[in-house]
Amino acid sequence: MNTDLFAAHESNVRRYGRSFPTVFTKALGATIWDEGGKNYIDFLVGSGALNYGHNNPSILTPGIEYLASGNILLSLDMYTAAKRDFIEVFVESILKPRGLSYKIQFPGPTGTNANEAALALARKYTGRSSVMAFSNAFHGMSLGSLAVSGSASTKDLGGVPRHDVIRMPYDSYPNEAFNSASYIDCVLGDPGSGIEMPAAIILETIQAEGGMNSASAAWLAEIQRICRKYGIVFIVDDIQAGAGRTGDFFSFEFAKIEPDIVCLSKSLSGSGNPLAIVLIRPDMDIWNPGEHSGTFRGNNLAFVTAGAMCKMWSNKQFVASVERTAINLQEHLDRLVTKFSSLIEQKRGRGLMAGLKCRSHAVVGRVHDVAFENGLLIESSGPNRDVIKVLPPITITDDELNRGIAILNQALQEQANGNCPSIPSPSDLASCNQ
Ligand SMILES: *Cc1c(COP(=O)(O)O)cnc(C)c1O
Repeated sequence: MNTDLFAAHESNVRRYGRSFPTVFTKALGATIWDEGGKNYIDFLVGSGALNYGHNNPSILTPGIEYLASGNILLSLDMYTAAKRDFIEVFVESILKPRGLSYKIQFPGPTGTNANEAALALARKYTGRSSVMAFSNAFHGMSLGSLAVSGSASTKDLGGVPRHDVIRMPYDSYPNEAFNSASYIDCVLGDPGSGIEMPAAIILETIQAEGGMNSASAAWLAEIQRICRKYGIVFIVDDIQAGAGRTGDFFSFEFAKIEPDIVCLSKSLSGSGNPLAIVLIRPDMDIWNPGEHSGTFRGNNLAFVTAGAMCKMWSNKQFVASVERTAINLQEHLDRLVTKFSSLIEQKRGRGLMAGLKCRSHAVVGRVHDVAFENGLLIESSGPNRDVIKVLPPITITDDELNRGIAILNQALQEQANGNCPSIPSPSDLASCNQ
């Protein structure tokens, strides 16, 4: 496959193209084809932006009809029929059945736009300037989102100082023994702690880019209680974990919490088209008209496909099949963890948002390369890139899931047979041909 043109003309900043050096042409469901006709199972799904698979006909067909019939495509934030239909179905199929009540803000189309709007609103609402964020958080690439992100690799990006962020340990950081929720409660209640009262606490229920670390229901409930106690706005960044990824529509449903603000993007359009929303507790919606505005806030094609996606959640069969797929995936991963305990330290994540924490990042790199060679797209995450990120479409067929897992199994097997892990355990040394 000729990738020379990209190397010659596309900026050095390109990333995924380097990771998967071929040229893709077509895709359907969990399968993606390159120019040479080779097919791959997609466990990356646009980094969580294609939870419903590629070209899902239930989602795309209404979009194609919409496109072909002279409808409005871009509308700023004017009222359109497509937007009204989306709001209606989002309220009826997603919010109401979950007992949730939110106003909907349409920010710019990307995830980081939603987080910026959420942080700005929280600061306006409370009149405070600091926000609290967590170790290994990832919230996007604009300055406000970068400021609350934890990763050292992006900390200095942009070349301006990041003020007004209080960094706290996430659940089980640095280890299970430390309870960061009670620590936060303590420092906020202690006038001598030196920690100022934040406008907001922003978190992901599962830190995808941070290494698939998942927060427990108890910890999340504690954080919500602390927010209520001190009048702090509780923001859940559900950009990657939401829109069905964990098996529920929102990633926080299992914890029975009700955040003040929820940010959604990535898979929200269901089709890979950019769309983001900010869900705001109604009494916090203190924006003045036009106070937060911008151009691409009326992507009507995305409204149409997002509406079709939301409707799927009213279908009991669909929900049951997502649940079953999540259980299947977890069982597959449990077997891999047991079989390759010399390579894999632990399974991470929840539902269909899973990760395999490996003992070395070199193993992850080789598994990625072998898997790609054999027809599986899979990525790594975590500050040391030692976590295999397993994100199949939540609509994946059993056959595609089995094939993807078989390729992953084969790639791990090659590492277990042929190569000594860089930090060998005693059993590795016994089995390693040195
Ligand atoms: C991807 C992501 C973002 C940023 O979304 P963009 O559309 O890339 O700006 C923010 N938060 C989380 C948790 C994400 O996974």
